[in-house]
Parts: sequence; structure tokens; C-alpha cells
Amino acid sequence: MTEGTGRQVPVPGFGPGAGIGKPQAPAPEPLPGTALDSHCHLDMIDLPVAETLAQARAAGITRVVTVGCDVPSARWAADCAAAFGDVYAAVAIHPNETARAAGTAAERDAVLAEIAGLAALPQVRAVGETGLDYYRDSAAPDVQRDWFRAHIEIAKQTSKPLMIHDRDAHADVLAILAADGAPDQVIFHCFSGDAELAARCAAAGYVLSFAGTVTFGNAAGLRAAAAVIPAELMLAETDAPFLTPAPNRGRSNAPAQVANTVRALAAARQMDVAKLCAVIEANGERLFGFGSDSR
Ligand SMILES: [Zn+2]
Repeated sequence: MTEGTGRQVPVPGFGPGAGIGKPQAPAPEPLPGTALDSHCHLDMIDLPVAETLAQARAAGITRVVTVGCDVPSARWAADCAAAFGDVYAAVAIHPNETARAAGTAAERDAVLAEIAGLAALPQVRAVGETGLDYYRDSAAPDVQRDWFRAHIEIAKQTSKPLMIHDRDAHADVLAILAADGAPDQVIFHCFSGDAELAARCAAAGYVLSFAGTVTFGNAAGLRAAAAVIPAELMLAETDAPFLTPAPNRGRSNAPAQVANTVRALAAARQMDVAKLCAVIEANGERLFGFGSDSR
């Protein structure tokens, strides 16, 4: 989630979420293979979850990771992943939600204990989104850094990938990972750097997940980043309902739309689309443990 002010509490059950007040994007051309959406917010999409997943499957997207950003949405994500075979969850306190999440040290510890408990569940396959956002001022940088470090520990304790939200904070994110020691698996969600930063992340073995932003006209730097990293360190995502890829900008996003982002990534890498689908699927299996479905 990129908007940090005042989240909607998810509606009970798996009906339509609040949405973002924009019309749904039309169905994309199906992919020649299957792929996954490594980051979305099913609780915020104004369609019933079952319908969102059916549209995704029609485009070739057979698995999605839905992400919680505060305690209510983290609980919802874990419940949704328990209810739907195609859905996996990630849980954390979003950097823009950290100031609101707790007023005292005791509350902070209680919230982190709840996140750690949810992160240990079999259907929860990543700790995130957590990290730093210096673009918004929803929480003071030192507060964000404290929560980020605490989530790094939870990822290590649960041996699950750390899913990072990094907006205008590249240097501090990399410095904290180096100082505290990065978990075995690190994913940068909605990667927003250039080819130089991408190469540094790849050298550290970090995985970069590209959102619809890579399809935007002014994103030549992002496409260059997508071209320099090994395909084994690449994922594709929507961050739905936000960041709808071309040609449907201005419409509400949904997991099906990641098909357009996968095609743009294949073009940026001058790679066959079906081949890239197969690599992204294998990366998803490796990172999120889809193959070993112990739910
Ligand atoms: Zn997000």
C-alpha cells in the first residue's frame, strides 16, 4: 500500500473491499504460461475475492500474495490465505502505519508479538510489507527504523522472506540490512531504484519485485534495472488496487493485470514471455515455498 493515512478496516468475510473509487481495468490478454502476483491487497479491491482470483486465473495468474499493513489487515490476510488455495499471505506493520500502531513500548511489543504469531502460520509466506518510507511523513524516520529492525528479527525467527517497502530510503534500507544482517531471503517490493541500485541489490542476493510502474512512459531507468539483474532474482507484482500498469493507468488494479507487467519485463529483457513466466514461477516456488504446501 502506498497511501499511508488512515486505512480502512477490512470488511469481514471475503466480499468486495473499499476500493479506490476507480473503475476496474479490462481483462488483459492471457499470458502464454502461468505466473504469480507477489504483492497485492485483496482486502482493498472492490471485488469479491473469489471473482478477483477467477479473473487472475483467466489471465494465467494462478497464485497471489496478499499483504497486510496493520493488525486488522494482517489478520484478514492470514484468514484469506487459509480460505483460498491460490492465496498466500504476508504480514507486517507498514512503515507509514508504525506511528499509529502503538503509543507505548508495551503496545509496540504486543503488536510485534501478534505479527510474529501470524507470521508463524503455514499460509503466511513472508514478513512484510515493512521498511522505510521517507516520501511520506506519516511516521518519524527513527520510529520507522525501529519497526523495520524488529521485522527483520521476525523474518529471521520464522525463516520467511522479508518483503521490503522502500520509498526514497534506499541508503538507510541497505545500511540497516548490512548492519543487522539480512534474513536469508529479501524481496524489494515495488522496486523503485535504477540499474546501479539494482546491481547492488543483486550482488547481495536480494530479489526485486517489479510493479506496474515499470510500464510507465517515464520509467526507462526502472526498465534498465529490470534488464541488468539475473532473472532468478526477479518477481512481478501489482500492489493492487494501486499502480495499475499501462495500458490501464487510471483504472483500479487487480492481480490479473500483472500479465501486462510480465510482458513489459520480458520486453525490457528482450526475453521470451513464456520463458520469463517459467522463471518467475520457479522464483515464487523458491521464495514462498509454494511447492511444499503444508497448510
Ligand atoms: Zn503494498
